[in-house]
Amino acid sequence: MKGKFLLAIDQGTSSSRTVIYDHDARVITSAQQEFPQIYPQPGWVEHDPEAIWGSVTAVTRDAMHKAGAVAADISAIGITNQRETTLIWDRDTGECVYNAIVWQDRRTAAYCQTLKDDGLEATVSKKTGLRLDPYFSGTKIAWILDHVDGVREKAEAGKLAFGTIDCFLLWRLTGGKVHATDATNASRTLLFNIHSQEWDEELLALFSIPRELLPEVRDSAADFGLATHDCVGGNVPVCGIAGDQQAALIGQAGFEPGMTKSTYGTGCFVVANTGSEALQSENQLLTTIAMRINGKVTYGLEGSVFVAGSAMQWLRDELRVIDAAPESEGIARDTGVVEGVYVVPAFAGLGAPYWDPDARGAILGLTRGSGRDDIVTATLQSVAYQTCDLIDAMSEDGIKPSVIRVDGGMVANGWFLQFLSDVLNIPVERPKNVESTVLGAAYLAGYQAGIVSSPDAIGELWRRDKLFEPEMQADQRERLLAGWHDAVRRVRSGI
Ligand code: ADP
Repeated sequence: MKGKFLLAIDQGTSSSRTVIYDHDARVITSAQQEFPQIYPQPGWVEHDPEAIWGSVTAVTRDAMHKAGAVAADISAIGITNQRETTLIWDRDTGECVYNAIVWQDRRTAAYCQTLKDDGLEATVSKKTGLRLDPYFSGTKIAWILDHVDGVREKAEAGKLAFGTIDCFLLWRLTGGKVHATDATNASRTLLFNIHSQEWDEELLALFSIPRELLPEVRDSAADFGLATHDCVGGNVPVCGIAGDQQAALIGQAGFEPGMTKSTYGTGCFVVANTGSEALQSENQLLTTIAMRINGKVTYGLEGSVFVAGSAMQWLRDELRVIDAAPESEGIARDTGVVEGVYVVPAFAGLGAPYWDPDARGAILGLTRGSGRDDIVTATLQSVAYQTCDLIDAMSEDGIKPSVIRVDGGMVANGWFLQFLSDVLNIPVERPKNVESTVLGAAYLAGYQAGIVSSPDAIGELWRRDKLFEPEMQADQRERLLAGWHDAVRRVRSGI
């Protein structure tokens, strides 16, 4: 077996990171770099592709240097990435024709609404498992084709390539030799039929997107070609690719149907493994490809909440009632569960299962005695309530997890996890390694390279740090959730 390390690149929304692992998935070293966010207009969010690429090469070089590694030491590379973010570049020069349009960007909202008004959402949803929402890549591609001079003609002539961030990084790492993505990333574009596993001609026609733009779709663990760029110092095979939330499920060893992970970073993303069944939600959740390994598709049910850890940043930066996010834990411990006061952090509308873009945040139920500590604690509680709404929606769709595996920056907060377990009435497990996303990319690469023998072997590498079990009385849980639903009802638009 060649090499002794696995190298995983995590290209996220605010930063890029490279982690080097040994063959037993122990972290050897890592490097991370932030890059600028570009807000050209309200509701628009872009990234400079060169800033993304520059940060990825810099952290990869840095991690290689810190590990004292050369190309021959790296057995395989895995890539995970911010999903849906859209790039189009010139196949000859490698230059992008426009900035990356980021998943958060809402510029195609009116276009999506027109398509919905034409009654097209059901067709799109049946084929892709998604909704007609600006979040996904399809309408972002259409926007670039329609708004950047000369792009449509070049695209039709086969001179341009579209890719999500994984695909762009792969293209650059392989010196323009490979134009491919994996099935999890393809499943977020609005163009990929998740049942037939093919780019869908009807959808391409609907969004007027030339077929010539699209990459080849491979398994998540596959031969993606050789990275020859000097940031890895020579030739290293790229063997794994998955979108960030799917990679987190893999990092959490969520290989069995029903296994569910919830990631708490800026936002919160819940993904449940539904096995070989593409379960179509009746409750506003998304159907997605959780992984495709050895040609076998595993589907997932996904729900997301826009504001989770970022609510802590709001307490810190806007309300200025805490100095740092971890302070929230001590405050909540001293205060105890808050009843009657609710923070609804609908700063950017409400995600699943409400999908209400016009809802706005509120603090409700204040009395003369309510103070900072109640608001901080109620804000933590709001993240748990929102998770509860997602898990309830999943249960109604027939997926009832018996335990939830959590990860992301916010799970350092043990009080939050106990409260989460209490309101969900489900045990919550925190792993020793809470960096599941980048770990998942390393596992995919390791599996393809023959270092990790099977998903079961990944399961054996998963280590629990702590189990949080429900302790709350049913009547208190019911009271709290009834109050939360009443608070949500009050901030919803149009009802
Ligand atoms: P991302 O990958 O989205 O940038 P991370 O997984 O790094 O996010 O998590 C960072 C988020 O977690 C921040 O929004 C921060 O406010 C929150 N956070 C970090 N530590 C704590 C804590 N102890 N309690 C509550 N929230 C926390």
